[in-house]
Amino acid sequence: LNILWNKFKDPERVKNLVKLIKKEVEKYGKPINIMEFCGGHTHVILRNGLDELLKGYINFVHGPGCPVCVIALERLDLAIELAKIPEVILCTYGDLMRVPGSNRISLLKLRAEGYEIKPVSSALEALKLAMENPQKKVIFFAIGFETTSPHTAVLIKQAKELGVKNLWVVCNHILALVVLEYLLQSEEKPLIDAFIGPGHVSTITGSRAYEPIVKKYQTPIVISGFEPLDLIQAVYLIAKQMREGRCEVEVQYTRSVTPEGNIKAKEFLKEVFNIRKSFPWRGLGEIPYSAYEIKEEYQKWDGEKFFKVSVNSGKENPLCLCGKVIKGLSKPPECRLFGKVCTPQNPIGPCMVSSEGACLAYFKYRKNL
Ligand code: SF4
Repeated sequence: LNILWNKFKDPERVKNLVKLIKKEVEKYGKPINIMEFCGGHTHVILRNGLDELLKGYINFVHGPGCPVCVIALERLDLAIELAKIPEVILCTYGDLMRVPGSNRISLLKLRAEGYEIKPVSSALEALKLAMENPQKKVIFFAIGFETTSPHTAVLIKQAKELGVKNLWVVCNHILALVVLEYLLQSEEKPLIDAFIGPGHVSTITGSRAYEPIVKKYQTPIVISGFEPLDLIQAVYLIAKQMREGRCEVEVQYTRSVTPEGNIKAKEFLKEVFNIRKSFPWRGLGEIPYSAYEIKEEYQKWDGEKFFKVSVNSGKENPLCLCGKVIKGLSKPPECRLFGKVCTPQNPIGPCMVSSEGACLAYFKYRKNL
């Protein structure tokens, strides 16, 4: 297994591919701007210095594919208000707990004040919590792209099947392909010649789902895995496409991504969710048809309908550039607060909190360079 694993990090292979990329870019005639959609890819690129390795040839533009970074302030404030309801146990994925909402209150701070807020690593843990605490109201604050939304769909189905009456889901699941297209047609469009497509999301959506976007916007997409060699190979495939004047969806991550994706997971999504008319994203504003909501037939488990909490959100710190970082318009070191006021210990914006956030990646791997 180690031999197989090391193949994904083999320096010789990396060196050869870097040479090939440089040749392709030289023949193409100018540097290529590639947005890696996924925050997981941003961390691999910075941790392994791939941006430095390809400097002058490839400009990596960091994208919005970090589910914690793109949660709008009002949705975070909603989680905070829900957690204050008596007898509630609010559970959510860990990173979200540290993101400051309005007035710098985070779920973690609230927990320190005695409210029952629990991190979970899977949606089904919420079901366990509800069954173990029948006297409590358990709310699962569900976030994430297509990677996690099928798990939430299964949770809701199971709650119905088991007749669980003390569990609700507040759905914040968002759609990667919609935001990808939104960026391409945005007035403030970042410099993007091609995309490195998200690996995990694509295991669910399948690669075929990207074809209409690639065709409409004439922007190649290569779906990549998460090892350094995966990303280098994906960049090579992009550079080759650009030089040959092709524009296609290609899959580098063939060990996990198929053209049709995960059919069963997609069936679960269709069964449990509708697409919302509009949903707020941090930095991007309201994006039409960009998120899921729970269908009428499952509304007994819809926390947004049951608790009807209203929030009055404050303003985000005007110096925080998260909005621009998420859109690929700024890089974290351009933020005046980066590394001085805003650090992982004292995060001002979500991009410094999330393990997939671009600011955290720069703080960990570039701050002292
Ligand atoms: Fe926001 Fe901090 Fe990133 Fe600046 S460094 S953009 S304040 S998260």
